[in-house]
Amino acid sequence: MAKKAWKRGKRKNPYNEKNPCYDCGAECCKYFAVWIDEPTDLDEFDAIKWYLHHRGVCVYVDAEEDWYVHVENVCKQLGSDGNTCKIYDSRPHVCRNYEPGRCERDDIDVENIAEFYDVAELEKFLELNYKVSGEDLKRRRRKLRKVKEAKS
Ligand code: SF4
Ligand code: SF4
Repeated sequence: MAKKAWKRGKRKNPYNEKNPCYDCGAECCKYFAVWIDEPTDLDEFDAIKWYLHHRGVCVYVDAEEDWYVHVENVCKQLGSDGNTCKIYDSRPHVCRNYEPGRCERDDIDVENIAEFYDVAELEKFLELNYKVSGEDLKRRRRKLRKVKEAKS
């Protein structure tokens, strides 16, 4: 996540062309994502629809079948240069632990099982992977399938 504002002459700036964060524009500081439970009934499914009605929100299911709400919103601690962290020395652990080798710049999102940007995409996924039993949702099979797999 965003780089420290390196002071000229005091310490060598490690963010040169060889560093993956160089010239990135701190894409990882412009959103946050929160883990949510997989929906098990129609009420929970409806709550996810509500998230998706908001601007800048996407819900995704990662390769481990964990569900997340992703909210596009720039961190208040990103400097006005759009590149440096104003609280670098006390930044949260999630920022410290972020690995440039496995970030959105390398587009690891292609591994996700599903990404929903609107309710229609979520409903297609529901139809493919779940059956409705009363108010409950039951998986059709042990592993979740990508919607595009159903077309082939
Ligand atoms: S971790 Fe990835 S997204 Fe974040 S600044 Fe570095 S290259 Fe950019
Ligand atoms: S605290 Fe700093 S490193 Fe973390 S998201 Fe905000 S600007 Fe980026």
